[in-house]
Amino acid sequence: PAPQPAAPAQGGMLGRLFGREEEPRRVLDDAMLENLEELLIQADMGVETALRVTANLAEGRFGKRVSAQEIRELLADEIARIMEPVARPMPLYPSRPQVVLVVGVNGSGKTTTIGKLASQFRAAGKKVVIAAGDTFRAAAVEQLQVWGERAGVPVMTAPEGSDPASLAFDAMTRAQEEGADLLMIDTAGRLQNRADLMEELAKIVRVIRKKDPSAPHNTLLVLDATTGQNALSQVETFRKLADVSGLVMTKLDGTARGGVLVALADRFGLPIHAIGVGEQIDDLQPFDPRDFARALTG
Ligand code: GDP
Repeated sequence: PAPQPAAPAQGGMLGRLFGREEEPRRVLDDAMLENLEELLIQADMGVETALRVTANLAEGRFGKRVSAQEIRELLADEIARIMEPVARPMPLYPSRPQVVLVVGVNGSGKTTTIGKLASQFRAAGKKVVIAAGDTFRAAAVEQLQVWGERAGVPVMTAPEGSDPASLAFDAMTRAQEEGADLLMIDTAGRLQNRADLMEELAKIVRVIRKKDPSAPHNTLLVLDATTGQNALSQVETFRKLADVSGLVMTKLDGTARGGVLVALADRFGLPIHAIGVGEQIDDLQPFDPRDFARALTG
């Protein structure tokens, strides 16, 4: 697999702790642990997770001499251990269509992620239909149409301001008639009025269940990694609005805040299905905990 550029801005994070790489081994003492915690918190890992990671790392080693390389490897091991259970691709089911509801705040990368996923599924020989369910944002609908063209996947739209649930129902009908493998439904991301959004999402779920009681099969929450700790509160909010089954983390290219993934994994344990590493159609990768941990620790 291609190397993941996750959190490249953090390269050399531990360099700051040890000074130059050639510096001799130093005693793992309280001061070093505090510095380590500080670095992890700066990387957006969150206080709770940072404290636990450093405590685990110090176990059996406190007061001993360690090198920067050893600390780096230990830290990467601790992080990978937290991330391994959540690194899981989006599960596929035999249902036709498998319905994938995509939720997240505006700007998180929902549209882009749907385009990238559609392209990957299509390349894997699956028949995909997209429903542009954010009917209140004309720009979102247009953008999704552009992505649909790029991915070679039909995009169903409805007039601006019309009921997203009725579009979802029509899309479900078409996907069933055409024997599509996957139906991906974009949704609105207006958190300003949560009650409205909750009702809107609930209604979409209600109508597609009329066609298939087991739908939606996946509810993906798209999160922007550059929002740091904000991503945690977005998970909390969206879990109240929808039955979130997995996460896609976008914009991991060039962010220094990748540590938030560790906090997310530690706190919620939701699967991370994929990571976005750029704006192009191929810039969606499976989440690799080892590569991620190495990139994060620099
Ligand atoms: P939506 O409002 O949630 O549908 O978000 P969009 O899909 O329109 O994405 C918002 C912006 O983020 C766009 O400019 C995208 O090109 C950009 N974007 C999405 N995913 C990524 C990513 O993984 N990396 C980078 N660098 N930009 C991304």
